[in-house]
Amino acid sequence: MSGGPVLLVTGGSRGIGAAVCLAAASKGWRVAVNYASQRQAAEDVVHQITESGGSAVAIQGDVGSDEGVKAIFAAVDAAFGRLDGLVNNAGIVGPPQRVDAISSERLERMFRVNVTGAIRCAAEAVLRMSTRYGGQGGSIVNLSSVAAVLGAPGQYVDYAAAKGAIDSFTVGLAREVAAEGIRVNAVRPGIIDTDIHASGGLPDRARDMAPSIPMQRPGTAGEVADAILYLLSDKATYVTGAILNVSGGR
Ligand code: NAP
Repeated sequence: MSGGPVLLVTGGSRGIGAAVCLAAASKGWRVAVNYASQRQAAEDVVHQITESGGSAVAIQGDVGSDEGVKAIFAAVDAAFGRLDGLVNNAGIVGPPQRVDAISSERLERMFRVNVTGAIRCAAEAVLRMSTRYGGQGGSIVNLSSVAAVLGAPGQYVDYAAAKGAIDSFTVGLAREVAAEGIRVNAVRPGIIDTDIHASGGLPDRARDMAPSIPMQRPGTAGEVADAILYLLSDKATYVTGAILNVSGGR
């Protein structure tokens, strides 16, 4: 698989991102597994891929800083020398708070990682993939959330607003680069069983929310990865600017 297309997954060390890395590798992508701090988790994903005959590297970098984004893409260039796909997956929540309790520091970080980071990463990807700059085209998938539509009242309206920005960005960028060989889409996961809920102080959230989900269960990271892999793939060559709910009806 040394000549396969190259995919960068931000936040590829755990949860949905890790599932995307594994699924992509099984379909012949060479994978750049970005992580923020959990190096061992990223190395484990890389190990699983290389054990199965695939190609992957772990790349540390904080998408919430310009230097971090530059370093991530420099590392992708050094490892593979090309880029064909980007999954803007890295994302954070905060503990449940009403808007009047949210600090400026939290708000700033929420948008810097979830919005600015995704936009900066997309910009770097466009520089490498757009036919306007001599690239071969490519595909970008952004991680939105059903929270963008529901608003997450009483939990994290800042997170929901950040994901709303991702929806708008997806539509706008899709049109901006549609004639340059790049497709841009998003998925809106509902409640997915990953560590993100514990990181927001609600470790049982996925299980507790199950009765309120039309399908009566949380989704798995693999189910979201399958939708992302479809959007990345040649099965979706006429799909751009789409935002796909992967939410069990939520
Ligand atoms: P997760 O299990 O908490 O994993 C988060 C991943 O993002 C980890 O790999 C983490 O790296 C990485 N990350 C966090 N901050 C980063 C930063 N500043 N720079 C680079 N990487 C960073 O999250 P998840 O549940 O898989 O969520 C993935 C995406 O789906 C997010 O955008 C989230 O908003 C969205 N989403 C999730 C759900 C859900 O219910 N799980 C629902 C809707 C949308 P480390 O391992 O190094 O910490």
